Amino acid sequence: MECTTVRPGVQCRFMGKKGCNYIGGTCLEIVEECKGCTKIVQYGNREFCSVYPDPAARWRRGTCNFATHVKREDRRPSGKDINPLKAAKRAQR
Ligand code: SF4
Repeated sequence: MECTTVRPGVQCRFMGKKGCNYIGGTCLEIVEECKGCTKIVQYGNREFCSVYPDPAARWRRGTCNFATHVKREDRRPSGKDINPLKAAKRAQR
């Protein structure tokens, strides 16, 4: 349904007939770590995330997985591509 709280006119899965079903009944504003992300949308003079209703929760356990402004470390050894099937077979040996 369409949001009637902080992002009027935007389709939102948390919106119901009785209003916003998200915790606290509204989306929360972005946090400092979000600055620079392309997912930020501005409504009035407030900034929200277009993906998550509670951006702070996304950063509580590390880097937000949808953040567009953060470079992620390549965890693969020396940049080699790993075939998951071969890796599973190797692990069985
Ligand atoms: S996608 Fe993540 S980093 Fe970007 S605005 Fe949303 S919560 Fe913040």
